[in-house]
Amino acid sequence: TRGHGDAGTRGERDGSRIQNPKSKIGNGEPGLGIQERKKQGKNVPRRAADLYLGDYHPYVATDTARLRLTPQHYAYLRISEGCNQKCTFCTIPAIRGPMHCKPPAAILAEARELVGDGAVELNLIGQDTTSYGEDIDYDAGLAGLLRELNRLDGPRWIRLLYAYPSVFTDEMIDAIAECDKIVKYVDIPLQHISDRILKAMARRVTRRQTEALLDKLRDRIPGVTIRTTFISGFPGETDAEFQELLDFVREQRFAAVGVFPYSLEPDTPAGRMKEQLPPQVKEDRANAIMEVQQAVAFELAAGQAGRLLDVLVDRPAGRGRYAGRHAGQAPEVDAVTYVSGKHIEPGEFVRVVCERSDGYDLIARPMDVILPIL
Ligand code: SF4
Repeated sequence: TRGHGDAGTRGERDGSRIQNPKSKIGNGEPGLGIQERKKQGKNVPRRAADLYLGDYHPYVATDTARLRLTPQHYAYLRISEGCNQKCTFCTIPAIRGPMHCKPPAAILAEARELVGDGAVELNLIGQDTTSYGEDIDYDAGLAGLLRELNRLDGPRWIRLLYAYPSVFTDEMIDAIAECDKIVKYVDIPLQHISDRILKAMARRVTRRQTEALLDKLRDRIPGVTIRTTFISGFPGETDAEFQELLDFVREQRFAAVGVFPYSLEPDTPAGRMKEQLPPQVKEDRANAIMEVQQAVAFELAAGQAGRLLDVLVDRPAGRGRYAGRHAGQAPEVDAVTYVSGKHIEPGEFVRVVCERSDGYDLIARPMDVILPIL
């Protein structure tokens, strides 16, 4: 099945157009056996945490394969499974059922386990992370969970992925702004901006509300990085509605955008809509959005030159360089920062100065200090 960005799957695996197609995070340097690597404190495939996730709920069994693929220094932490939204293009609620949240204590235990296993970055996922807590009467909701996670020793970065726009509260915004470990990064799939299409998608949010939320995020979380995804060629999308979306992408200057050409899912309300668009139109529209976004992203990247950044190193990238990410770059889907240097281990934080951009990516050199992992 295919999701559409906030469906808990990463863009590349869904065949979406993502902003930085060459950014693939590898698994560190090969060559040492697991025991040897463990002794040296290096990356080994994560095991205990996988089992814990798989044991929690049958739905999360699929997480294990993916988690084993992640390097040891970052991890995806699933906070819920299933979804109570009813987006008309999506099969996830039918397949995975209503939202089941893990209790905060279970999430904290899992987070500790991942940290104990070497993770310094936790990426929170779920089909709709902003609705967290609804089904378990956890009134503090996502904001409360973020504040709890922020108190943990060990993780340096905690990142929120798959936020749903209509339930993004002021408390959540404040928690992101105030908690030092919560990176100032919001992944918020918007899917469209035309009111008529948003309604046809049953997204329960309007253009005006979306713009107000984006303004508020930028206002109250200084320097926030916003990633989003859109669907191009939803059934009945007119030229004018598509143009509205294209103009919106141009105006908003998002840090990162993924685009999914609409994919018909059987047994969904959108799948039954009469005005399905030809594949070529959906493709052309996706490409047009990515073209507009590419210009924005290249400009934003070029504007980083001269900035000091803390970069989490992911892997050696050859020719005396390492690929890593600053806090505004999520693993696997976003651009990367290449750092020149020697003897840097995956999972180390390095303070760098950005020298220039290379398309979506940044080229940086280390300052002399290697930061301790907190
Ligand atoms: S929020 Fe919408 S698109 Fe995302 S999983 Fe739920 S129903 Fe699907």
